[in-house]
Amino acid sequence: MLPVNRPQDCCYYDERLRMTPTIDPNRLWQSLMDMAEIGPTPEGGSCRLALTPEDAAARALFLRWCQPLALRHQQDAIGNMFLRRPGSDTAAPAVAFGSHLDTVPTGGRFDGIVGVLAGLEVLRALHEAGVTTKAPLELVNWMNEEGSRFRPAMMGSRVAAGELPLAAALAITDDDGVSVGRALADSGQAGPLAPAPRDWSAWLELHIEQGPVMEATGVEIGIVVGTMHARYFQLTITGEPSHVGPTEMNRRHDSLAAAAEVILAVEQIALAAEPNGRASTSWIVNTPNARGNVPHITRLHCDVRHNSADTAIEMETSLRQAMSDIAQRRGVRIDIDPYATFGPIVFDIGLGALLHRKAADRQLSTRDMIAAAGHDSMLMAPLVPSAMLFIPSVAGITHNPKEFSTKQQVAHGAQLLLDAVLELAQH
Ligand SMILES: [Zn+2]
Repeated sequence: MLPVNRPQDCCYYDERLRMTPTIDPNRLWQSLMDMAEIGPTPEGGSCRLALTPEDAAARALFLRWCQPLALRHQQDAIGNMFLRRPGSDTAAPAVAFGSHLDTVPTGGRFDGIVGVLAGLEVLRALHEAGVTTKAPLELVNWMNEEGSRFRPAMMGSRVAAGELPLAAALAITDDDGVSVGRALADSGQAGPLAPAPRDWSAWLELHIEQGPVMEATGVEIGIVVGTMHARYFQLTITGEPSHVGPTEMNRRHDSLAAAAEVILAVEQIALAAEPNGRASTSWIVNTPNARGNVPHITRLHCDVRHNSADTAIEMETSLRQAMSDIAQRRGVRIDIDPYATFGPIVFDIGLGALLHRKAADRQLSTRDMIAAAGHDSMLMAPLVPSAMLFIPSVAGITHNPKEFSTKQQVAHGAQLLLDAVLELAQH
């Protein structure tokens, strides 16, 4: 680490913007492309489900990149990674930023990854410029943000925030019966730290928009003021096993046919709540899933979301009404397990204003936005002043190998992150 207090090397003041440390867009882009080579999919995306060998390889590469920056690496028992750069004031709380390196099975190269690697680029730029901030900086890779392998999503931040006990999280299993605890041990990702809120003064997360609004309106930076309210459900539809041949149509209690109606009802509920309503069925397991059998147990996962919590609750009421109608008409049972709710989260107004100001300094256009997806920042917001900034997603495509943001869009986001971090950490 370079000596502290070297004002000739840098300047943090807006009027001398040209002298502020600058990120390297090419280096950042190359890191994104190199990271995407871990768990590559044939269509050009990435598949790195949490705590798989691919996830472990991505984490190892990330640590290798951190090595020359003389950061202190800490890892907690749920696998969250913290990379700390000391400040000149050893008593000051850290300014923290980051996101996640895990992906969904059909993941792209940007969702989550851009937040971690832009954070790495911030630290690389400061290292090169010889800048020591007053407050320490902490770069974070949260474990299992996506929740594709282990439910619920945002698991690492949830445990760190005290919203999910560590022991309960470790006991959660994937579809093959492998527990989080086992996967942490097998992938070498169980750290010694007890998961807990950290000594942070602020939390920032750069993320892709995952929607079409910024591109459509030509906006370069989205300042996320809050998130939607989301309600998650596990549905179990129970009918009656029978033979697909002899059983007359009017005597069947087919759980999969009932599920088809449920799936369409879920979609209708969101369409009725446009433009700010969302609802999806995203997971299905059919039993016995055997040719020749009328299915008798079908399990679904669905969620409803809206900017307004009241409307999201109304959407749940509609969902329950639809379930009850379908169950009655088809002679099946539908059990609803409303296992989690989220938000709406309101992010820190002061941090939002800071991001607007820093974007204006760089002549970047901004707009306030509401996040429709879940993010680790939602867990941090109740604990520490938190904010998110978005960069555009081309055509709004996400959770898809075609997910894309341009090198310039990524660079804008990373530079703004650096500018904001510098102001927060210096004072
Ligand atoms: Zn993400």
